Amino acid sequence: MKLSVHFLIMLCLLAPVSMPAQADGDTPSADERTRLYTPATVPSPKVYGQQYYVSDPDRFLRPTMTDSLNRLCHDLYRTTEAELAIVLISGFDEDKWWASSFCQELFNSWGIGSGDRNTGVLLFFSLGTRDIRIHTGRGVEGLLPDAVCDMIIDNHIQSLSAGDYNTGIWGMANGIVNQLLTDQARQELLLGWTPKRHNDEDDLTYIYLYISLILLIILTIRVMVKWRKIEKASFDKRPQLIDKTENAQMGLGCLSFLFPLTLPFLYYAYRKQRKTLKDLPYSCPSCGGKMNRLPEEDFEKKAKEAHQIENKLHIFKFDYWECPLCGTTEVARFKDRSYNLYRDCAACGEHAMVYKDYKVTLQPTYDKRGEGSKRFVCQVCGNEKFVTYSIMSLHERELERIREQERRESERYSSSGGGSSSGSWGGGSSGGGGAGRKF
Ligand SMILES: [Zn+2]
Ligand SMILES: [Zn+2]
Repeated sequence: MKLSVHFLIMLCLLAPVSMPAQADGDTPSADERTRLYTPATVPSPKVYGQQYYVSDPDRFLRPTMTDSLNRLCHDLYRTTEAELAIVLISGFDEDKWWASSFCQELFNSWGIGSGDRNTGVLLFFSLGTRDIRIHTGRGVEGLLPDAVCDMIIDNHIQSLSAGDYNTGIWGMANGIVNQLLTDQARQELLLGWTPKRHNDEDDLTYIYLYISLILLIILTIRVMVKWRKIEKASFDKRPQLIDKTENAQMGLGCLSFLFPLTLPFLYYAYRKQRKTLKDLPYSCPSCGGKMNRLPEEDFEKKAKEAHQIENKLHIFKFDYWECPLCGTTEVARFKDRSYNLYRDCAACGEHAMVYKDYKVTLQPTYDKRGEGSKRFVCQVCGNEKFVTYSIMSLHERELERIREQERRESERYSSSGGGSSSGSWGGGSSGGGGAGRKF
């Protein structure tokens, strides 16, 4: 974006240098005046800069006239965003084109006029074929209907016939511009015009897209490296690694909301890959053969009692793998949804200790802390474990209650409008009790 701006500025700086080469020349040779053009070989004036509209490679016009025409067209562009291109050439191959088809091709290959409103006009002159033509874009057809174009040409064709191209072209160009500069025409031309989006926004969009893309690439590479590692991991390590990737998958899910274009794709790839990794056959640790996973129905029959309990409590999910060659069985276990409620049991080693209840062993007094004991029980072996904890003294509890009350009051004060002096009642209610009398 910035590059194109620099490029344009450079072109504008170069233009005054390169223009005279075309403008200062003597009258062109007879050879140049018989040159045949195709729509592709007509030089575009836009190479000199945004404010150039006249293409006169065979120099039919005086340099001062070219300048005047460029100014005229640029004024039209600035007020209406309509573009008038003026092309004068020595000729074209009449076996291949009519003037109208030549203009049509040239018009569309240059793209004259605004892209969405088609507000372009081409004033075309070819000496060899003695063609003069006003070619209009769809957006100006209403303002320059064929009859009006005919009239403009009619009014000035006399000069062209007499060989006074400067006067003829100037007259026609003015005829077209006047037609497009009436108040009504201006309104019509600018109808549907919307301000161009600010560059900063564009920049931000690009930056955002770049970040999304870079993030996608980095994460994809990271994931691929990790998956390799998991595939190569030994039997007891692999399930742990797969469990760990679940966190990464969750993280991706959250990031997806910020980068909805790229990351959801990765999230789903991740999820699918985790599943396939669980299904990836292990090699037998004794004989090296490929192991088979036992179907779910066999779980009850083959599984250890501990595993059955853990499965039922949703601590773990188990996959039993069996070697068809030597009969070795191995177990892969994955964390299930209740995993975090349990702790490791010191007696049997299973992850099946769960909190049962608590008992106060020492009542707290006003200034002395009390003590309690929490009981954990292993769901597999029944092993019990007690964890002592301390209980706040009554004094501490009182302080805590006051602090809590102050916090609530300050919250209510700030929510009722900050600095204002208005307050509010606490929100109590009455059951109708009380008494009264006359005096
Ligand atoms: Zn084996
Ligand atoms: Zn136990």
